[in-house]
Amino acid sequence: MKILIINGGSSSFKYQLIEMDTESVLAKGLAERIGLEQGKITHEYWKNGEKYKVSKEMHFDNHEVAFKEMAAYLTDNEVGVIKSINEVKYIGHRGVHGGKYTTPKRVTPEVMEELRKGIPLAPLHNPANIIGIEAAMKTFPKETENFVVFDTAFHQTMPERAYRYAIPNHYYTEDRIRVYGFHGISHKYVDARTRRHFNNPHMKNITLHLGNGASMAAVNEEGHCIDTSMGFGPGDGLIMGTRAGNIDSTVIFFLGEKGLSTQEISKILNSESGMKGLIGSPDARDLETLVNQNDPKGNLCLDMYAYRVKKFIGAYMIALGGVDSLIFTAGIGENSAMIRKAVCEGLETFGIKIDPDKNKQLNHPSDIVEIQASDSKVKIVIVATNEELQIARDVLSLV
Ligand code: AMP
Repeated sequence: MKILIINGGSSSFKYQLIEMDTESVLAKGLAERIGLEQGKITHEYWKNGEKYKVSKEMHFDNHEVAFKEMAAYLTDNEVGVIKSINEVKYIGHRGVHGGKYTTPKRVTPEVMEELRKGIPLAPLHNPANIIGIEAAMKTFPKETENFVVFDTAFHQTMPERAYRYAIPNHYYTEDRIRVYGFHGISHKYVDARTRRHFNNPHMKNITLHLGNGASMAAVNEEGHCIDTSMGFGPGDGLIMGTRAGNIDSTVIFFLGEKGLSTQEISKILNSESGMKGLIGSPDARDLETLVNQNDPKGNLCLDMYAYRVKKFIGAYMIALGGVDSLIFTAGIGENSAMIRKAVCEGLETFGIKIDPDKNKQLNHPSDIVEIQASDSKVKIVIVATNEELQIARDVLSLV
């Protein structure tokens, strides 16, 4: 059985066609700059174990036009991997904000209505999601079923004490202001991968999704998320590529009183802060370069970044009543030995001890690698996240 995964944005989308019998990727690609003058679609496919890549620059009037190009690539005689789009029986869409939904959903008019109702909660993501689902429904046959798997769903098991804000109750009951949490598909995937690796379904895990956006989650012995660092939106918690993370609301009022509009303040906190605000670049590779040059701004940024992560590790060890493993994932978590080391440094008293050589080793042979020292009480692992496969598994569980 083949499942097509769509991870859609407002002017682009990524796709992956997965053969579920072997959980292998047949083809994947990216359509970008949709609606702009010059768009591009890049298509990668595997044949006899070899990977190939083709791309084409063209104008896409809208998502539907780009979806048709994707379908043409998938079914092409040369670069295609299926004979007809009828072979795609199921499509799984990544949904960023699922509002009240705790589980993946088959797309129905009610689900579309809920996504529309959720636009004020996720003004950037939900419209893109809706556009992607509608384009898929127009491109693929009526029999093809669409599903949406939400990034917020994994966090819906949090207890009320963790997801409520201490503001007047009616903002929760009427405006649905609460902690939702994000990156849930990734947190769920890496947590499950780690349990399988240790053959232990009853672990207490702390997952660290450290990418351009970054969040952490505390996952209890039952595999349920009990707390997470992002909140009502993706702005809370850790220091990120361009987001500030935790900040006192007084700063926002102060900037407002200085005459900045809400849009300007939002731009500062979401697009100009985090690593970018501290070192001028949102990229951890640039941070590493600066630290290697002993640059004071770089050193401070690394120190602040790691300190913030450590505070959440401490909080989640308390919330979970201990921890069995720390799980690093996403662009930084999977690639930056410097940041993993800085995060674990000083936590030896709490049984967290990294092996410096294993941490530095490149080109890990497996999608999960243990990097704790032999006398570390807590396991420390790097897991290559695979959100597309998690979406596909969630879809499979429904059909
Ligand atoms: P993601 O959002 O998960 O795609 O992560 C993207 C981020 O990962 C980039 O902005 C970099 O900060 C970081 N990153 C990617 N590759 C590396 C690398 N080789 N070393 C250090 N950081 C990396």
